[in-house]
Amino acid sequence: MIGRLRPEAATALAAAFFVAVLNLAFWRQLFATVAPRNPYELLFVAALVVVAFCCLVLFFGAFAVPGIFKPAMSLFLLASAAVAYFTNEYGVAIDGDMVRNVFLTNAAEAADLITLKLVWYVVILGGLPTLLLWTCTITYRTFWQEVWFRAKATTVLLAAIVLLAFPFAQGITSVFREHRILLHVFMPLNYLAALADYVRPHLRSHAIASVPLGQAAHKGGAWSGRSGRSLTVLVIGETARAANFSLNGYDRETNPLLSKVPDLINYTSAFSCGTATAQSLPCMFSGLGRSGQTGPRTIQREGLLQILQRAGFSVLWRENQGGCAGVCKGVPIEQLERAGTRALFELGESRDENLVKGLQDKIDAMQGDSVIVLHMMGSHGPAYYKRYPADFERFQPACRESQFSRCQRSEIINGYDNTIVYTDYVLAQVIELLRVNDKRGLPSTMLYLSDHGESLGENNMYLHGLPYALAPDVQKHVPMLLWVSPQMQAEFQIDTACLERRRHEPLSHANFFHSVLGLLDVETKDYTRELDIFAGCRRGRMAHPAR
Ligand SMILES: [Zn+2]
Repeated sequence: MIGRLRPEAATALAAAFFVAVLNLAFWRQLFATVAPRNPYELLFVAALVVVAFCCLVLFFGAFAVPGIFKPAMSLFLLASAAVAYFTNEYGVAIDGDMVRNVFLTNAAEAADLITLKLVWYVVILGGLPTLLLWTCTITYRTFWQEVWFRAKATTVLLAAIVLLAFPFAQGITSVFREHRILLHVFMPLNYLAALADYVRPHLRSHAIASVPLGQAAHKGGAWSGRSGRSLTVLVIGETARAANFSLNGYDRETNPLLSKVPDLINYTSAFSCGTATAQSLPCMFSGLGRSGQTGPRTIQREGLLQILQRAGFSVLWRENQGGCAGVCKGVPIEQLERAGTRALFELGESRDENLVKGLQDKIDAMQGDSVIVLHMMGSHGPAYYKRYPADFERFQPACRESQFSRCQRSEIINGYDNTIVYTDYVLAQVIELLRVNDKRGLPSTMLYLSDHGESLGENNMYLHGLPYALAPDVQKHVPMLLWVSPQMQAEFQIDTACLERRRHEPLSHANFFHSVLGLLDVETKDYTRELDIFAGCRRGRMAHPAR
């Protein structure tokens, strides 16, 4: 018998053990990421240590109930010791995919992973503290005394977290945003979140059945009598804000190539329906707009790409980023660079030119009328400098840190503007490729739309993801560009002069879904003519299509 402990002492000891021992890999990586150089940055790391400790005390405190605390803590200790082994040994990060892999691992594969070292990890780092815990007696107060004490302790801990985190809020946001993977290393929250990620869709598929859309979707009259193929390229931008496109009047030359493309239509008043990729993508592809945005429900609902497939189009999603937020379900996906590489902290530089490289081969290999989605890495921050090759560093000096506190605001903006110059180049390349295909008899269209904007220091705000109602326009006003090849204009009776005249009308992500259906003349009950930018701009027999 070691002794008697109050529950708060036991939780504090457990939290200290997690911070100091089981989470060593986390601190090592954090230290390498931040690479503190001055007292401010050292304080930043120190504050994070204390914040992590307070969070763990709060978390473990929730289990400090007679009959639950010891079994629960034993599980956390043993599981964390095993996970610590895999993190240290293989550098794996724990996420939902990893848990899926664990459940899919067969006995033979599992046997390969069980080494003597793993056993030692579990025995020493998990077994010993568990043993110590069971030899202690936890002495709880009476129920109301315990409630009152916990209420006071929780208040103090929360206040400490806020006070310590607040001065470093900007640093914390930029470090964890750029190095999201750090969140997959912090125990035990990493594997608990991963487990939840893994389990959630299983629960959801019972709760909300996937809503099929456009079951009777089919190609309309514009397609009758056609024999050749057609090509539509939808480019989904990342973090590009309209304000920094010289096409929209920005005073720096960020669109040197696109500004020379004849017949390019630049929409000047397009607004996103979210301020983060995970909100915007489902919104763009569901056609529901902001009103229909209900998180998981939108993801479960089928969308544009599934309707197009049902209407007979070949669809391909080329991914140069972290994923399609559920909108490409059932669509062939080509992952250009594995954004979620398992090796820790290897940040891919995923250049967007890769989306154009090999694109012709894809076009040639596809059958019939094709729709290709290019999902860009775009201007994803805070490491803007990683998004473009050296030749595109037009604006100098550019911030070459992901910690904004180390750069001047002007350097951050330079870095961001360089990403736009590079996006300009990539989009111009896509259009050039489509122009060549058009000359070879393949009518084609490119529609580019960014998922959301970005704050670049206006009112001291950076990055994006603010709640929609609070977010400034720079996070919501997005560039939108349309290029329709001459043959496409002729065959589908698209009046580009009319489109050009109407390019200043207010638009949103909701228009994306209905406009693509309209452009491709897909007849389905899910189409709303009022939201189709092409609706009033068709010539001849398509001017008033019967729907
Ligand atoms: Zn995004």
